[in-house]
Amino acid sequence: MTTGVAILGSTGSIGTAALRVLARQRERFRVVALTANSSADLLTRQKAETGARFGGLVCGGAGPRCLVEAATLPDVGIVINAVVGAAGLPATLAALRAGKRVALANKETLVMAGELVRCAAREGQGEVVPIDSEHSAALQCLASAGGRPLQRLILTASGGPFRDWPPERVARATVEEALNHPTWRMGRKITVDSATLANKALEVIEGHFLFQIPFDAIEVVLHPQSIVHAFTEFADGSVLAQMGFPSMELPILYALTYPERVSDAGVRRFDPAAAGSLTFQQLKPGAFPAFDLGVAAGRAGGTGPAVYNAANEVAVHAFLAGRIRFGQVADTIDAVLQAHQPGPASELAAVLAADAWARGRAEGRCS
Ligand code: NAD
Ligand code: MG
Repeated sequence: MTTGVAILGSTGSIGTAALRVLARQRERFRVVALTANSSADLLTRQKAETGARFGGLVCGGAGPRCLVEAATLPDVGIVINAVVGAAGLPATLAALRAGKRVALANKETLVMAGELVRCAAREGQGEVVPIDSEHSAALQCLASAGGRPLQRLILTASGGPFRDWPPERVARATVEEALNHPTWRMGRKITVDSATLANKALEVIEGHFLFQIPFDAIEVVLHPQSIVHAFTEFADGSVLAQMGFPSMELPILYALTYPERVSDAGVRRFDPAAAGSLTFQQLKPGAFPAFDLGVAAGRAGGTGPAVYNAANEVAVHAFLAGRIRFGQVADTIDAVLQAHQPGPASELAAVLAADAWARGRAEGRCS
């Protein structure tokens, strides 16, 4: 018996990595549904290659609704949500309510609506299993600890391309410079998020919701080699870490098979000597303003994280389109957050209203 899989965002960086994993794991999984935003030719080719029965192109007439359709098909057991941004939220909620496992790369979903995601999972007996490498690492450590509670989570951050740049040079960085990530090849939005370190703030909030731990128990350390993905500390002070060469295929595989582990010839074997020296540095407060703003929004809670996420999405889009400078990404987020009074985020309408409000405010500053 194979498990049916839907991939939302199959044409992106995570989506295509997931298809490579699934092609090697044909005995266990079959691809049932694929969706993409606008890459019609690639989606058609992927559909033919995998034999998927459902293909939804958002901008090809199917509309955003096709994500929810794909995510709730009765023969789908696992939904890989590899969509970028807030657009992934309705499908995550619908899949969880329909009792599916959501293998979640789309961290924006958890950041903007962590409480709603938890309720949807409880209601429908669905589950979220992270694909994000740091959270996959933490989950693997937790599983190895036999469910003992996590005392402290330390996420690693490469620091992105501007780790050692002086702040005045970073403020003027070009799109090309921001897209030149030292250790990971990813979609454009998350690559810019990794340069501002907004990505790491999103991951702190993601960790808070996934593992139900307070913000005080989550730390970030710079680790330029991206070999150790996370550290987890338990009651006795013992620390477990997970490591591997930077590749998303292992966390994708683990999200599919969790809590089992299966062999996969395509995953590059670890070689400590080839990894070389591993170094860790403190992340200095103030060095990456978009990071500090995100953690503060996470701590404020309620609609704060949704507003942070929306302002960031708009600002990153504007930066990529050449409308604002790199330094203005954090400035935009700051201005929008300052104008926001966080309210409760326990209703979808409130989260969507905060998201729309923040987008409008941010657009106003980026035009
Ligand atoms: P990407 O830009 O390469 O791919 C995004 C996918 O989403 C594409 O298939 C695109 O067609 C689809 N999409 C875009 N906008 C959409 C919309 N409005 N409606 C429906 N579909 C839409 O991005 P990526 O790097 O694959 O990242 C995807 C998600 O995974 C992001 O949330 C990112 O933060 C997360 N993530 C990525 C990596 C990585 O290594 N790339 C690692 C960890 C987490
Ligand atoms: Mg990550």
